[in-house]
Amino acid sequence: MSVKEMIEQQLEEQFDEVVEWRRYLHQHPELSYQESETAKFIEAKLRSFGYEDIRTGLGGHGLTATLQGGEPGPTVALRADFDALAIIDEKEVPYRSKNPGVMHACGHDGHTSALLGTAKALIDYKDHLKGTLVFLFQPAEEIPPGGAQAMIKDGALDGVDYIYGAHLDSAVPVGQVALGEGFRMAAVDKFQITIKGVGGHGAAPHKAIDPIVVGSDVVSALQKIISRRINPLDSALITLGVFQSGNAFNVIPDTAKLEGTVRSFDPDVRQKVKKQIHNIVEHVTEAFEAGHEIDYLHGYPALYNNVEETRRLETLFSETFGEDNVVELPTGMGAEDFSYYLQERPGSFFKVGSQNEDEATHYAHHHPRFDIDERALLNIEKAFVTIIDSILGLEGGKS
Ligand code: MN
Repeated sequence: MSVKEMIEQQLEEQFDEVVEWRRYLHQHPELSYQESETAKFIEAKLRSFGYEDIRTGLGGHGLTATLQGGEPGPTVALRADFDALAIIDEKEVPYRSKNPGVMHACGHDGHTSALLGTAKALIDYKDHLKGTLVFLFQPAEEIPPGGAQAMIKDGALDGVDYIYGAHLDSAVPVGQVALGEGFRMAAVDKFQITIKGVGGHGAAPHKAIDPIVVGSDVVSALQKIISRRINPLDSALITLGVFQSGNAFNVIPDTAKLEGTVRSFDPDVRQKVKKQIHNIVEHVTEAFEAGHEIDYLHGYPALYNNVEETRRLETLFSETFGEDNVVELPTGMGAEDFSYYLQERPGSFFKVGSQNEDEATHYAHHHPRFDIDERALLNIEKAFVTIIDSILGLEGGKS
C-alpha cells in the first residue's frame, strides 16, 4: 500500500470524529472577528494530535500549525476559514446552532473540521514529507477587510511557497470537485452616497431641492456605467441595495441615502467604475444644486487561480476522484478573501461538492437551512492529501 493510500485509510477511519467536530462547531458558531472560542477549539485539537509549532493570534483569532517533514523541500499551506454568519438557523437537526442568530451557513465549520482531520492524519506520516506543511486557520472571511489580509500582515505566509484552499459547494454533487484557472471570483467594493437636498413643502418644489428626484437620476446614470462606459467583453456590475429618503407623502425631504456594491475582475475596470461613480454623483448632484458625500470602500480583490497550479490539480484530482468528477468551476460575482493569498503565492482555490439527493443539501450558501452531505469533508481531506503527496513527495521521503 502506498503512503497516500495509508493516509486515505486513516481518513476513512477517523471520519466519524471529523463529523463530530463539524457538528460541535455547527452548534457553536461565532461571528466574524469574534471567533475566540473556535480558535481555542482548533488549538486544543491540534495540540491533542501532537502539534507543537503553533502560532496563535494571527490577524485576530487566526492560527497556523506547522509540520516539518523528514527531509527538506517546499512549504505548502492549506487554508480553512472558521467564521459564521448573522443568520437564524432554521434547520431541524440535532446539531442546530445553539448560538441564537448565528449560523455556520457557508460551511466554514466543515472547512475547519476537514483541515483538522488532515492535520491529524498527516502527523503520523511527517517523516515521509519532503518539505513543510502549514495548516492555516483563518477567521473573518465573511466581512471585509477580512482575516486573510490581516494574517498575511502578521506573517502567516512567511516561508510558504504554495497555498491551496477548498470551499464546500451545495450546487455541486458530493464526489465532484470544481476547478478553474484565472479569474473565478469577483472583486467586491461597497459605496454609500448621501444626496444633500433642501427639504420643503411638497406643494412648493421650486423652493426645495428634492433629493429623491436627484437620487433617481443618480441611480439611473449609475446603471449606464456598465452598459456605456465598460467594454462589453469585460465583466462588472453595479447593484444598489439601499435607496432611503423621506417619511411623509407631501414633504420633500432633506437627504437621500444610496448604498450599493460593485463587482468586477480586471483591476483597471474596477478603478474605472469607481471613477465613473464619483463623476456621476458629483455632476448630477451639481446640475441640480444638491450636495453629496461618497464613501467608497474597497473589499476583496478578484480571485485569480494560478494557471499552472490549477492545471496540476486538474491532473491530480482526475486520478483521485475520477476524470468525470472534476468539473469546471463557474466564474461568478461572489467574493472570497482567499484572493489575497493568491496575490502573494502560487496556488488554487477549488470547490468540493456537498449536495446529494436529499433536498436538505440543496440550499444555497447563506440560506437559513443550508446543510451539507458530510462525506464532502472526506473529499476535502483527500484533495489536500493529493496535493501534499504531489508537492511534498510522500513516497520519496523516509519510511
Ligand atoms: Mn464561505
